[in-house]
Amino acid sequence: TDMQYRKLGNSGLFVSALSFGSWVTFKNQVDDNLGERLMKQAYDAGINFFDNAEVYAAGDSERIMGRVLNKLGWRRDSFCVSSKVFWGGEKPTQRGLSRKHVFDACHAALRRLQVNYLDLYFCHRPDIHTPMEETVRAMSDLVQQGKVMYWGTSEWRADQIATAHAVARQYNLVPPLMEQPQYNMLERTKVEGDYALLYDQFGLGTTIWSPLASGILTGKYNDGIPEGSRMSLSNFQWLADRLETEEGKARLEKARRLTALAGELGTSLTKLAIAWCLKNPNVSTVILGASKESQLTENIAALATLSLLGDDVMERIETILANKPDA
Ligand code: NDP
Repeated sequence: TDMQYRKLGNSGLFVSALSFGSWVTFKNQVDDNLGERLMKQAYDAGINFFDNAEVYAAGDSERIMGRVLNKLGWRRDSFCVSSKVFWGGEKPTQRGLSRKHVFDACHAALRRLQVNYLDLYFCHRPDIHTPMEETVRAMSDLVQQGKVMYWGTSEWRADQIATAHAVARQYNLVPPLMEQPQYNMLERTKVEGDYALLYDQFGLGTTIWSPLASGILTGKYNDGIPEGSRMSLSNFQWLADRLETEEGKARLEKARRLTALAGELGTSLTKLAIAWCLKNPNVSTVILGASKESQLTENIAALATLSLLGDDVMERIETILANKPDA
């Protein structure tokens, strides 16, 4: 199936409905060689947005992506690349959303990614210690300077996004365009609940993360933690620990029931879970993660699974999930 392209909120930018990110994988599981193969595979499938952040592998994720972009030599006008600012280091000036750190982090990301501008630049979390006006002005100024095309937020509350818009309007600054929230079958509160009014009100776009809930929605954890999987990595033990909680067990039980439903439909839970995210028209792009080429192949094939998601199937999924937020 051909790639779909969706407008990023009310901007003129068309992003591929599936995109590719590097959290956990780049450096931990993916070196330059595999990174090059994965990015080429993604690009050849029509993916045009590659997601990164200053904090991923403490800069090494952006360094790998920068070397790969340089080597592949794609035309700069044929793809989008992002970074995110918040956690740049241990020192007080190296974190948060002060004007200083927003600028320093942007310049450092440009160097690591070996590009002249970022297409998307996100405030990775809200910063309660920096006045909203300072952050909005800093992001807006980077846009004015041509170092950033569009700026947005990640995991901000709806009222914080609304405040950023109010400040931007008041001072004639560029408002945030997009939010990067977690969204998947098991995590729906922000995208379907909290943000419900923002899509119309501000033309908010979304670049959603962890569509497979770090792999739970592949079914790979249904019977324990497989060797080499994300939850088996020593530095991501905290993810594995979550599986042991009551909430974690309930999620695994849902994954088991969804695995059976996917089998009945003649598809895999992985593809069903990604297609389910794509089904939501307020999702501009679903950021995929993959540690292997075979995973990326399957995940991209989820585009064709979208046609299975009629009202009847969506209702059967809803019955298993039983977590629809009040809009
Ligand atoms: P997913 O929930 O889709 O998890 C991806 C992981 O699941 C892979 O790395 C792989 O892990 C496993 N997997 C993927 N496909 C398959 C498959 N077909 N079969 C079996 N296992 C599979 O997404 P991520 O959590 O990786 O998030 C995607 C992107 O979103 C990130 O790269 C990042 O760009 C962004 N993100 C943003 C955040 C934010 O705060 N803004 C937070 C988190 C992510 P393995 O092989 O190791 O088991």
